[in-house]
Amino acid sequence: RQNYMKVEFTSRSENEAFARVAVSAFITQLDPTLEELEDVKTAVSEAVTNAIIHGYENEDGVIYVACTLNGQTASITVEDHGKGIPDVKLAMEPLYTSKPELERSGMGFTMMQTFMDSLDVQTTFGKGTTVTMTK
Ligand code: ATP
Ligand code: MG
Repeated sequence: RQNYMKVEFTSRSENEAFARVAVSAFITQLDPTLEELEDVKTAVSEAVTNAIIHGYENEDGVIYVACTLNGQTASITVEDHGKGIPDVKLAMEPLYTSKPELERSGMGFTMMQTFMDSLDVQTTFGKGTTVTMTK
């Protein structure tokens, strides 16, 4: 039996900690190790930060975070209706950033990939991006 939660909030950096804590509070029922919890929190932070600074380019928009638990597996989606990614393959390369002037390191997707068991990015240029991760 699946268990599900969804939260939505304004795309502001103040809300990044809220998203991270909301997901981690929900998945606590799976009795994760501290390390697993930290991995999920880091991945959620990276995805939400991307939605704020790249998806909405720091304008106010809505970010949707959902988490589904199925057995011991958590599936987390972070969705924005922002500008989308023109070339996902390039965007997911380690060290690639479209904002080097902001001193981004281009390691967000690489961290999500490293800390989670799977990462999938669906995007439509001009419409938005949905990142799905499982652990
Ligand atoms: P870092 O995460 O290390 O601070 P970064 O955000 O640039 O740097 P990634 O998180 O790996 O690096 O993202 C790579 C690129 O993918 C970004 O520079 C941006 O161009 C694009 N991108 C990522 N997420 C989104 C999104 N939600 N909407 C639009 N573009 C995105
Ligand atoms: Mg990033």
